[in-house]
Amino acid sequence: MRYADDPWAVGLMSPTAHVIASAATSVAFYGVTRSIPGTIMCFLSGIFIDIDHLFDLWWHKKRLTFSYKELLYYCELSPDGKLMLAFHSYELFVLLWALVILGKWGLFWWGLMVGATVHIILDQIYNPVRPSTYFFIYRWKNGFSKECFFPPGQLPGSQRTK
Ligand SMILES: [Zn+2]
Repeated sequence: MRYADDPWAVGLMSPTAHVIASAATSVAFYGVTRSIPGTIMCFLSGIFIDIDHLFDLWWHKKRLTFSYKELLYYCELSPDGKLMLAFHSYELFVLLWALVILGKWGLFWWGLMVGATVHIILDQIYNPVRPSTYFFIYRWKNGFSKECFFPPGQLPGSQRTK
């Protein structure tokens, strides 16, 4: 199977997988909290944390697109450009969780953080990335290169275009 036919076949977390995971997380969140705003935020944050991919395309190509194919090409196949993926940063999660818990923020924020946290955990487990990939400081120290995301030879596009 060629990458272009089914780019997610090798285990990248697809948008569909994130929607399913977010729906399941939201049901559980509602079951525990009975908070409708929190549940909505939980569902949305678990999906739309990935909009940082759009920022990266803008950063390097000065293009804003909602074409899934183009975004996928830039992030996973194209050797040029860089990836910051600002929202996919454990440091940011630690900071926000500290604010939500210590600041006693409400269930709206709890929902947002639970959805986003489940998302990044699934990305870490199922995307073929390095253990340190989702640390912002690690990516920054490596100049936000695409190579620092994936172990050598594991850049998803490099496998599936052969
Ligand atoms: Zn993601």
